[in-house]
Amino acid sequence: MAADQRATAPALPAAGRLSDVLGAQRLRKVAGSGRPAHAYLLVGPRGSGRRTAASALAGALLCAHPGENADACGTCPSCRALAAGSHADVHVLAGHRLDDARALTRAAALRPVHGGRAAFILPNADELTPEAVAALLKPIEEPSPETLFILTAVSPDHVPETIVSRCQVVPLLPAPSAELVPWLTQRGVPPEAAPVLADAAGGRPGRALALASDPAWQQRHTAARDWIAGAGRWRVGEALTRAAAAAEATDLDEVLAVLRHMARDAAAAGDQPGLLAACDGFAAAATAASAVDGHVTARLTWEVLALRLRRSSRVRYNLPKR
Ligand SMILES: [Zn+2]
Repeated sequence: MAADQRATAPALPAAGRLSDVLGAQRLRKVAGSGRPAHAYLLVGPRGSGRRTAASALAGALLCAHPGENADACGTCPSCRALAAGSHADVHVLAGHRLDDARALTRAAALRPVHGGRAAFILPNADELTPEAVAALLKPIEEPSPETLFILTAVSPDHVPETIVSRCQVVPLLPAPSAELVPWLTQRGVPPEAAPVLADAAGGRPGRALALASDPAWQQRHTAARDWIAGAGRWRVGEALTRAAAAAEATDLDEVLAVLRHMARDAAAAGDQPGLLAACDGFAAAATAASAVDGHVTARLTWEVLALRLRRSSRVRYNLPKR
């Protein structure tokens, strides 16, 4: 019985409304279509809010009286049980091994306790063992009409095709800054930090929140800012020295995030030279990132980047004072 208990462990964030889930436009369409599929695969990078979205989708599809935008009503017995983390017909896969899969398939063979639908949520389906995948195929392939499967993964490419082919794949898109910034401030992130975090996280809400409480990120961010801000003052020799140091100690993703943020600030301020400089710097950093991915020597990559930033910043890098 231990496996059954684990299969229904409350491992999800409390179900919010679908309209509060950032980057989930497709989910709202899916839930509001009136013809829900029996299996969904929600895909997005880590920190993109996959679990929150899965929970909200289950809430919306199990709700007795969904409202506008397919939002759960929040007051029916299903909504109240889900909010309390005690919904008898919402099951979460506890792990990725055969035992966990079997516990879930046993639960899927039963009729829903409340007589409506039962939701089976499988977080990180890309981590299932081959044995677990084999055990889950039948219930996902031949579900009862009351059964709803919601799987999450980084990408459909990471999930066995036998599973993907049985699911409606729904991508979670990066949240636009205009939505993510107020979302972050509502969760206690200082207003001056929220736009920077939104950019640094690439529009992923969970990632932005994780960075907000990570002192190591603040260090990486400051190092990247200082490196970029200094570029305009470097002579060629110093640019090469700084590149060598950066290859060891600076985070290229953070350099990209700072430049993206500078571009956004410059665009908002109508600062054309600043915008051009930031865009040119961003293009150079993006090229550097793909060169590193392609195993070009890190130091050479950073040298090319340092020289390009030095040249672009002649135009102007207009970093706000901190
Ligand atoms: Zn409801």
